[in-house]
Amino acid sequence: MSYTFALVGNPNSGKTTMFNEITGSTQYVGNWPGVTVEKKEGKARKFKEDIKIVDLPGIYSLSPYTMEEVIARDYIVDEKPDVVINIVDATNIERNLYLTTQLIELGIPVVVALNMMDVVISRQDDINIENLSGYLGVPVLAASASKGMGINEIVEKALESAQSSIAAGSAGKCKVFHGAIEQSLEKVQALIQPLVEKKKYNSRWVALKLLEDDEKIKEKLNVPITLMADIKGFREELERKYDNDMETLIADNRYSFISDIISKTVKKKVKGNSLTLSDKIDRVVTNRILAIPIFLAVMFAIFQVSFGPLGSFTIDWLDTFINETIAGKVTSWLEAGGAAEWLKALIIDGILAGMGSMLVFVPQIMIVFFFLSLLEDSGYMARAAFVMDRILRKLGLSGKSFIPMLMGFGCSVPAVMASRTLENEKDRRLTIILTPFMSCGARLPVYALFAAAFFAQNQGMVIFSIYVLGIVVAVLSGIILKKFLLKGEVAPFVMELPPYRIPTLKGILIHMLDRGKGFVKKAGTVIFAAAVVIWFLQTFSGSLQMVEDPGESIMGSIGKAVVPIFVPLGLDDWRAAVALLTGLVAKEVVVSTLGILSGVGEVAENSIELSAALQMYFTPLKAYAFMAFTLLYMPCVAAFGAIKREMNLWKWTLFTIGYQTAIAWIVAFLIYQGGNLLGLG
Ligand code: GDP
Repeated sequence: MSYTFALVGNPNSGKTTMFNEITGSTQYVGNWPGVTVEKKEGKARKFKEDIKIVDLPGIYSLSPYTMEEVIARDYIVDEKPDVVINIVDATNIERNLYLTTQLIELGIPVVVALNMMDVVISRQDDINIENLSGYLGVPVLAASASKGMGINEIVEKALESAQSSIAAGSAGKCKVFHGAIEQSLEKVQALIQPLVEKKKYNSRWVALKLLEDDEKIKEKLNVPITLMADIKGFREELERKYDNDMETLIADNRYSFISDIISKTVKKKVKGNSLTLSDKIDRVVTNRILAIPIFLAVMFAIFQVSFGPLGSFTIDWLDTFINETIAGKVTSWLEAGGAAEWLKALIIDGILAGMGSMLVFVPQIMIVFFFLSLLEDSGYMARAAFVMDRILRKLGLSGKSFIPMLMGFGCSVPAVMASRTLENEKDRRLTIILTPFMSCGARLPVYALFAAAFFAQNQGMVIFSIYVLGIVVAVLSGIILKKFLLKGEVAPFVMELPPYRIPTLKGILIHMLDRGKGFVKKAGTVIFAAAVVIWFLQTFSGSLQMVEDPGESIMGSIGKAVVPIFVPLGLDDWRAAVALLTGLVAKEVVVSTLGILSGVGEVAENSIELSAALQMYFTPLKAYAFMAFTLLYMPCVAAFGAIKREMNLWKWTLFTIGYQTAIAWIVAFLIYQGGNLLGLG
C-alpha cells in the first residue's frame, strides 16, 4: 500500500526540520517565518510501506486570504492526503491550535505532533498530552524534531490512522462550536449534503465555510443561488443574535474552545508576564538606537573573519593544489599521452583555469555561509528583518519585502520566488526588482578575487562595503520607484519574532555544505561548459584560425565592440567587458573568464598571478567600479528566468533588468569619475 501524509503547521513550528528527519532529506531550515513557499515532497525512510511526505507552506489558519493558505487548503481538500500531520509548536500552543481546530474540521485524519517538547521540558512546564488528545479528538504525540525525538512514533501513528481511517467521526468529537451556531451549522450541513457528496468534501466543513460566505468554496461547489439565500438567512440571524459578524463569531468560538482546553491541560512554571531571556536579548538588539549599529557590526565582523587570515589560508592552499598539483599532473599525463597542443591548451588554459579560478574561493564562501546560517538559525536574522521593517515602513515600503531580500544574500532565484508571499501586487513587483541588488553568493568569488588583488589589507572591509552598497541602492530605488511608478498603500505586516534558539550543528552544516555543493555542481556544469566556449572564442579568430593574441580572437572582437560602453566606468580593457557579458550565464563565470583571458594556466602557475595579470589592466578604483557593476547589473539567466516567471509579463521583466543594468552603469560611473575627481584614480 502507498500513503500520502501532508505536513501542516504554523510558520517556524519546525516543519522543515521534521520533514528532513522523516525523509532524510536536507532541506534548508531557517529560523524565520515563511521559509517554505512551495510544497516539497519526499519519502519516509525506515518504513516498509511506501509513504510520501508532502511539506506544505507554513500557515496560521485556513482562511482564503493568502496564497500559502490557499495552496495548503486546496491541497488538503482536493488531493486528500491519507493523513494530515499537524506540527504544533508546544511553546506556542495556544496560537498553533487555532490551525489545528480548522484542520480537524476538514474530516481527514489528523495526527498532532507536539514539537519543541525539549524546550517545554527544560522550562519545566507541563502539558497533559493524553487529555489534550481527548479534547481534540485526535492523537497527539510529543516530539522534538531538532533532537530527532518522537519522529518514528508520529509516522507510525499516522499509518495507524490511515489504515483504520478513523477520520469520519473525529471532527464530531472536537466541540468547537456551541449554542445557536452549532445548531445552524447542523441545519446548513443537512441542506448541502447532496451538493458535497459529488466532490467528497466534508459536509460540516463546507457548511462552516458557506456560513462564513467563503467565495472560493462557493465557486468550487457551484452553490445554487437559492441555497445561498437560505444560508444567508442563517448567517444574518446569527449575526443579529450575537451582534457581530460571522467570521468574528466563528473565530471567537475557536479561541474560547482553545483557551478552555489550554487551561485544563497546560501548566506553566514561569508565568507569562515575566521576561524571558529572548525578551531580554531583544531589548538590546531591537533597540531603536542600537539595532542598526549592532546589525552592521555583526555583518562587518563576519566579513572580517571570513576574508581574514583563515579565508586566505584556504585560498592559498587550494590554489597550490589546483594550479600546481593538479595542473602539473594533468600536463604530464597529456604530454606522456602525446596529446595535441590544442587539446592541452583547452584542458589547462580553458577548463582548469576557468573552473579552478572560481573553485579556489569555495571554502571561503562556505565560511561566510557558516556564519550567516548561524545568525539565521539562532533567530537573529528575523530580528534584523524586524528592525528593517520598522525603517522600511517609514520610507513607505512594505516590511514584508525584507524577507525575500534577506534570502537574496543566498541566491536571487528562491528569493525572487519568495516574493510570492506579498499579497499586494505593486509591493510584489517592487520586491522582485529590488531583491537582486542583495549580493548573492555567486558574486562573492568576484569580490574575493578583486579584494585580494587590490585591497589585500582591507579585504573584509571592502567586501562589506559592496554588500552595504547593494542595500543602499535597493532602499533608494525602492523609495524612488514607490513614489513614481508603483504608488500605493503600504500593506500592513505583522512579523512574529521566533524565540532565540541554539542553532544545531547539523542544521548549520547542512546549510553550509549545501552552498558548497551548489558551487561545485555549478563548476562541473555551467562553468565547465562556459569555460570550453570561452576558451574556444578566445583562441580562434572569426575565420577559425588559431590566434596568438586573444585580442584578435572572436572574443576579442566582441569585447572591443562593447568596450566603449564601459569606458566611462574606467573599464577600458576589452577583457573586463567580456567578463561582464559572460557573467550573465552565472556571475561566477566573471572570475573564470578573467582566469582564462589572463592566460593564467599558461603564463603563470597560480592565481596569485591572476592578481598580477589583473593589475595590468585594473587600478584599485577601476576594480571597485567593476565590483559595483557586478553587484548591480542584471542577474544571471537563472534569476532572469525566475523574474520572468514571477512578473508574468514581458513588460515588467524587461523593465526590471533594464533598470538594474542602468543603475549599475550609473553607480559604477559615479564611483569611477567621483574617485578620479577626489584623486583616487
Ligand atoms: P518551519 O518554518 O516550520 O519549517 O521551521 P524550521 O524547521 O525551519 O524550524 C524553525 C527553527 O526551530 C529552527 O531554528 C529549528 O532548528 C528549530 N527547531 C525545530 N524543531 C525543534 C525542536 O523540536 N526543538 C527545538 N529546540 N528547536 C527546534
